[in-house]
Amino acid sequence: MPDDCLFCAIVAGEIPSTVVLDHETVFAFRDIAPAAPVHVLIVPKRHIADVRDLTTEDGGVLIEMFQAANEIAASEGITESGYRLLFNVGPDAGQTVFHLHMHLVGGKPLGGVGPG
Ligand code: 5GP
Ligand code: ZN
Repeated sequence: MPDDCLFCAIVAGEIPSTVVLDHETVFAFRDIAPAAPVHVLIVPKRHIADVRDLTTEDGGVLIEMFQAANEIAASEGITESGYRLLFNVGPDAGQTVFHLHMHLVGGKPLGGVGPG
């Protein structure tokens, strides 16, 4: 794990966060600058920089990230109203943290493409 990775530090509890889910391989916490009433970041505990670094060996943790999203949507009460799952990849998408993370955004109508 890189020493300077913000989300590795959050997973390790070295930087405080509002934890939403803590599973064996996946961790989720509330975004510090929420784009909608529900805005949760779902990350693998193991450091993966971003989507471009994924390999077939990461298939298991990816499924667990989506299962975590289903669980969180249910606990936030937005399974039926719906929500958006998205990954920013690289500069044009505005990726700012290089530890793989899926945004779960919802709790209001979201309009077109974007975090909300
Ligand atoms: P990206 O733009 O890389 O897809 O998303 C990074 C997200 O991390 C942003 O939505 C930003 O608000 C969030 N973020 C940045 N620093 C922190 C932090 O220290 N704590 C939390 N909880 N979220 C953060
Ligand atoms: Zn990391």
